[in-house]
Amino acid sequence: MGMIIRKHNHYPAKDVKNYYTMIFNESLSYPRPMLTILQISALTDNYIYLLHDPESKETAVIDPPVAKPVLNLLNEQNWSLKYILNTHHHWDHIGGNDELKRANRCQIAASRYDQTRIPEVDIALDEGDVIQLGDQQLNVFETPGHTLGHIVFYAKESQALFCGDTLFGMGCGRLFEGSAEQMWHSLLRIKLLPAETHIYCAHEYTENNGRFALTLEPQNSRLHQRMSQIRQQRVAGLSTIPSTLADELATNPFLRTDCTELQTQLGLQNASEIEVFAKIRQLKDKF
Ligand SMILES: [Zn+2]
Repeated sequence: MGMIIRKHNHYPAKDVKNYYTMIFNESLSYPRPMLTILQISALTDNYIYLLHDPESKETAVIDPPVAKPVLNLLNEQNWSLKYILNTHHHWDHIGGNDELKRANRCQIAASRYDQTRIPEVDIALDEGDVIQLGDQQLNVFETPGHTLGHIVFYAKESQALFCGDTLFGMGCGRLFEGSAEQMWHSLLRIKLLPAETHIYCAHEYTENNGRFALTLEPQNSRLHQRMSQIRQQRVAGLSTIPSTLADELATNPFLRTDCTELQTQLGLQNASEIEVFAKIRQLKDKF
């Protein structure tokens, strides 16, 4: 789309704790600056996101499994947190909440469903709620499937979706609590967003997911192209996230349940898309 410039800091792959990616906007076509989005690697393959509104200086963090790298980066940028946003209750998305809350006196916002599973939630979120960072809006969508309380945050003006463990690069989250039908509907919701939306998921699983995708669609040339790019990025120790929704629509089997080649490959030409989805999920669980 040419409006967003991605700057990757070339840290060695093993130095993941200090690795982050800065994405900013140089376009004049927006009435005000978009959110500044910083990506922090944590644990083995988690991504934490810092969202900062340059006008109001308000900042939020999404899904911190640990506090330290977030505190370091906040300190370096001279920002302080207004919100901790959690997409769901798994420990690798909330482990840093307590320490960050104590250090910043910020508020924790999570889905109403997870209010009893995430300690010290200050704001219980429902479908359609909006979190404000200055004038920037983050819309809350409920996307049950991976867990029943899973939510995602959509920043329309910044063309960014923070989707936790619902959608991954070429994959989707496992069905720990929800049904295949719920997850398929959650993904359908995401599919209907603008194709240029940047997909900020919570894990670096893209390469493995892509290997699985190739077993289902060996003739998909976009998939082959993306995989060779992904392999180069991983060899260089770079993040493959964010992708765009357009990338995912072209290569992510979980968003392609309507694709004839894929249905044929699975012997499910006459099945419903939910059945196709359930089969892909089942195969991926064993991949
Ligand atoms: Zn999870």
